[in-house]
Amino acid sequence: MLFYQNFVHIFNLKMQQSYLEIDGAMGEGGGQVLRTALALSICTGKAFRINQIRAGRKKPGLQRQHLTAVRAARDISGAQLEGDEIGSTTLTFVPNGLWSGNYHFAIGTAGSTTLVLQTVLYPLLLAEGESRLSLTGGTHNIHAPPYDFLVQVFLPILNRMGPQVTVSLDRYGFYPTGGGQLTVHITPTPKLSGISLMERGKIIAHQARALITRIPEHVALRELERVAKKLKWSEDCLHHCPLSRDQGQGNVLLLEVQSEHITEIFTGFAQRGVRAEAVADGAIKMAKNYLAAEVPVGEYLADQLLLPLALAGEGEFMTLAPSRHTLTNIEVIQMFLSVHITQTQLRRDAWRIGARQN
Ligand code: ATP
Repeated sequence: MLFYQNFVHIFNLKMQQSYLEIDGAMGEGGGQVLRTALALSICTGKAFRINQIRAGRKKPGLQRQHLTAVRAARDISGAQLEGDEIGSTTLTFVPNGLWSGNYHFAIGTAGSTTLVLQTVLYPLLLAEGESRLSLTGGTHNIHAPPYDFLVQVFLPILNRMGPQVTVSLDRYGFYPTGGGQLTVHITPTPKLSGISLMERGKIIAHQARALITRIPEHVALRELERVAKKLKWSEDCLHHCPLSRDQGQGNVLLLEVQSEHITEIFTGFAQRGVRAEAVADGAIKMAKNYLAAEVPVGEYLADQLLLPLALAGEGEFMTLAPSRHTLTNIEVIQMFLSVHITQTQLRRDAWRIGARQN
């Protein structure tokens, strides 16, 4: 019986007209190749097969966060899957529609909830009905957008393009224990409209917030001291923010720059064995580069704006030199969508990225 079921399953997958073949090792060779492919596969109805998943990472293949993203993508699209196992380096994904609704996606580790959201957000914001998602896992992870970045930086721009997406933080989740929770409400739009982000405007305000829980207070204070010294931000802009003990154990430093047309956030994530000064220095360096370049869009926001712009089929923004992550994302997007994404250097440290439908 099992043999018969497997046979039917494989036969059904093979019956599909064609697959996009994706090399997961391309460019950056990270999880973004997979997440972008899943999102666009559902948006376009194109099936894909990916191999060498995350070949560029120390621990390649699907880890819990990626597997949760794959299964979340399956749940909203009724997709047929092959290869959805921990450690798997190949995956076949055949979408079969799109269902908005109420979903709960649990990562089960401190894996990033915001990256799982990145995977299902775009299909759901173009779906017919509203959705409510609850995501559990990490909310402030290194190498991922922290909750604050999502809410203060990314969503205000996305919401200008037509949908209404709100995210609330029910509980913090730090590495390695996780246990954080986000609740997301998505009111879709029939079509995303393009956006132009070519100017930052005047800087209206800046502040540093050091969030800390169950880690000695002096860590947060030393981070803020470093900000005062290196960015010359005055004391009233420096906020030591202890969280209650039931929020897990962790510390992040958030440097927020609010301008007329955009807000940017640069984050330092505390890690075992890394001094508070070094954590602060990483975020300070990013903030300094951004401030000196006088561009509106920072490095991370740049790679995250590509998908909405490409789905809108038009739009542009000015940013720092495109990262490898951005270049890889452009390549994957252009495999699914008939859109041309250009990168033009405008000044030494300013680039225009533009999208237009072919
Ligand atoms: P993995 O293979 O481990 O999943 P990945 O390639 O998917 O890695 P990254 O390339 O490190 O992961 O980045 C994932 C996403 O997180 C990108 O969209 C990037 O812009 C975003 N990101 C990473 N760090 C930050 C940060 N400090 N602030 C905002 N966004 C961030």
